[in-house]
Amino acid sequence: MMTHDILVVGAGLAGMRAAIAVPQDLNVALLSKVHPVRSHSVAAQGGINAAIGADDSWEAHAYDTAKGGLYLGDQDAIEAMCKEAPQDILELERMGVIFSRTPEGRIAQRPFGGAGYPRTCYAADRTGHALLHAMYEQLMKRRCKVYEEWYVTALLVEQGRCCGVVAWDLIQGGLHTLRAKAVILATGGSGRVFSTSTNAVINTGDGMALAYRAGVALEDMEFVQFHPTTLKDTGILITEGARGEGGYLLNTLGERFMKRYAPEQMELATRSTVSLAIGQEIQEGRGVDGCVLLDLRHLGRAKILERLPQIRELAMEFAGLDPIETPIPIRPGAHYQMGGVRTNAWGETDLPGLFAAGECACVSVHGANRLGGNSLLETIVFGRRTGIKAAESIRDAELPPVSGAILECEEQRISTLLSHPGPERAWQIRDDLGKTMSLNLGIFRTKSSIQEALNALQALKRRAQHLCVQDKGRIFNTDLIHALELQCLLEIAETIVVGALGREESRGAHYRGDFPARNDKDWLRHSLSHRRPEGPQLTYAPVTITRFPPA
Ligand SMILES: Cc1cc2nc3c(=O)[nH]c(=O)nc-3n(C[C@H](O)[C@H](O)[C@H](O)COP(=O)(O)OP(=O)(O)OC[C@H]3O[C@@H](n4cnc5c(N)ncnc54)[C@H](O)[C@@H]3O)c2cc1C
Repeated sequence: MMTHDILVVGAGLAGMRAAIAVPQDLNVALLSKVHPVRSHSVAAQGGINAAIGADDSWEAHAYDTAKGGLYLGDQDAIEAMCKEAPQDILELERMGVIFSRTPEGRIAQRPFGGAGYPRTCYAADRTGHALLHAMYEQLMKRRCKVYEEWYVTALLVEQGRCCGVVAWDLIQGGLHTLRAKAVILATGGSGRVFSTSTNAVINTGDGMALAYRAGVALEDMEFVQFHPTTLKDTGILITEGARGEGGYLLNTLGERFMKRYAPEQMELATRSTVSLAIGQEIQEGRGVDGCVLLDLRHLGRAKILERLPQIRELAMEFAGLDPIETPIPIRPGAHYQMGGVRTNAWGETDLPGLFAAGECACVSVHGANRLGGNSLLETIVFGRRTGIKAAESIRDAELPPVSGAILECEEQRISTLLSHPGPERAWQIRDDLGKTMSLNLGIFRTKSSIQEALNALQALKRRAQHLCVQDKGRIFNTDLIHALELQCLLEIAETIVVGALGREESRGAHYRGDFPARNDKDWLRHSLSHRRPEGPQLTYAPVTITRFPPA
């Protein structure tokens, strides 16, 4: 049995930032199901927000965030994030992040959707890569222990306190108990619940499922952001930075259709507005082969090569066209989970000893719709805060004795999976789940589409009881991991569906065709999913409003 003071599950930006914030006299370790620099944070393209511009202010950033999230974000947390952002960006720079520069040598900033000021700092269109590698260097410098390619299957909870995890060592095979006085979940998003998704295949909502199974509520799960511009067929992200640099959206008539939906902000309206507009264009027959076009040609070769080199490469590799000469066919795809493990602005959950930060958490700063560039910021600000708070919380804590019951239970679950004759395969169910969710819970939802998804989910859950893991070995058994991930995906999907059915209004990313208006009187409140044997049970909680009354 391994023992540490603090265990961080996940080694993306939030997890690494949290570990680095823990004072060095404490023993902190990270676990990650992939090598840390393969975490999805590495794929972030467009940038990270902070009010560092001469005539910008954190209050303006906070206002844009609250308004962009349709006032569902908790404003105490939004204030903390926006106020602390400039300092965090400067610290990242000191850690060695190579931000793009202005001709005067200052950190450059580009405009992003829903922002009243160009406040997105970036490293060309590979910002996540620059951030994650700098963070990994800091982690190495501190000689933090990393359990690389370890898959956490359950949280240890004893005497009402989270005191470690049970994890499967992918390389050697086998389950282990790891004890700690505090556990920080930083497991990222759940975008793979949908079939058309910008997310890495590892984004299966594991940490949300771990907390949910341990009795912690998941908040606002119905709010899944659909990014307006993902590449035709593959769903690969084409960064909002492309529009930030001046890219146009065109329909089949060659018309910049955003003038009908958001005449002032045009292509830089919030993501939910742009996604809905694209969806409507396609639905009303003004699309191009199930897509619309993102036109960058007028930006010119030099600017595209300097600011958007990765986008060009992706378009050439995966769509066979060069955006310097040809517009890119794009359509909306699942991108980001605004909901997650309910925490306060210091990452504390309702379960003592358990913390959460990054995309798996719902702090909540994004409300009903996240602004581009605010998620990388969230990982850094709340990763840091959570590391500090977790360290403070354990100064006088003792490790409770561990009974071994949870390890036994997990051993049973895995041996059942390994011995079951089938006939179902995890990939088939995952495929069907993704299609059902994309079809019924995409940018447009109605009671009947949601109900359809709910029925389909019940059937998928029954099928998942007959999963067959064909690889019976212990060494690098990815077949087994896919089965465990599927169990998480199904559970997370159910909270999205039940949350969406409950919320009878339209707000941000949650657009109900049968309730097209926003309804603050009844619905300016967070939804909370609690795990019950029969499925998620919903309760509701108030939103914290400080300085920006809903308008
Ligand atoms: C293509 C793309 C582009 C994006 N671009 C931007 C952008 O420009 N700006 C912006 O603000 N946001 C962007 N986002 C969103 C942002 O990148 C993510 O929300 C953020 O990076 C998530 O970071 P994280 O640390 O929470 O999780 P991740 O980086 O996803 O890391 C999760 C970690 O958890 C580990 N893990 C998960 N489950 C387990 C388990 N069961 N056991 C052990 N380990 C586990 C993984 O191995 C990984 O290390 C983008 C997202 C995508 C998909």
